[in-house]
Amino acid sequence: MKPPASKPPTRPDPSPADPSGGDWTVHLLQLAARDNLGQAGKGRLLDLPALAQAWTCATGACTPGRRAPNARSCCADLELAPTAPERAAIDAALPEIAAFLAPRDPRWAEGAPAIYEGDAVRRPGKAGDRRCVFAGMGPDGLYCGLHALEDASGRARGALKPLACRLFPLVLVEVDERTTLLSAIHRNTARLAGSRPARAFPCIGAAGAPTIAESCADTITALWGARAAKNAQAAVAGWRERAE
Ligand code: SF4
Repeated sequence: MKPPASKPPTRPDPSPADPSGGDWTVHLLQLAARDNLGQAGKGRLLDLPALAQAWTCATGACTPGRRAPNARSCCADLELAPTAPERAAIDAALPEIAAFLAPRDPRWAEGAPAIYEGDAVRRPGKAGDRRCVFAGMGPDGLYCGLHALEDASGRARGALKPLACRLFPLVLVEVDERTTLLSAIHRNTARLAGSRPARAFPCIGAAGAPTIAESCADTITALWGARAAKNAQAAVAGWRERAE
């Protein structure tokens, strides 16, 4: 039974974290005791305060060189360790990725740079300006080159972009064989997930943004199906009404 993530700062491990060896168990009990635990279906628990946070991808506020001094970005500051199948998919498409990124990112202008450093994807650049080797710099801020290539080539989401990247800021926690808790990076969970603090990410709590349950509806649908995604939104909306 392993802890949720290897070493901070990192992206939350996309495989459901196991709560039995650490504070996730305490967190779960606290959610239940405070009536903050929701349900999206059988065996699908919801961390309502975490999922009720406002969130939208806001790369203009997190891109190195444009952001506030304490702001951090998932693509610039969190370590990404793709799974073996994800790494194989990226490696197989590397010539196409290199051709796609060459005119878009100077780091790829001379061909594919080194992609990995140990198990993690490299984040080349100077201190304070490092970003994932696949993260391009666009007029609006950082963008994912793998995501952009998936769209440009008609691939399904996730054909190249690793699950950990698609999940952020969601966190999956395996409660037992039949039960999973859906949480998110939050002041009460960031340490448990091995992430930087929630307050470091300008996207979390962005003024006027929808809740994480709403903004991440596509991802929750991909994980649990459309019905559970709707149930999650309704449970979070109900919790917010009660909390106000
Ligand atoms: S693979 Fe894409 S989403 Fe993931 S860290 Fe790199 S640029 Fe960001």
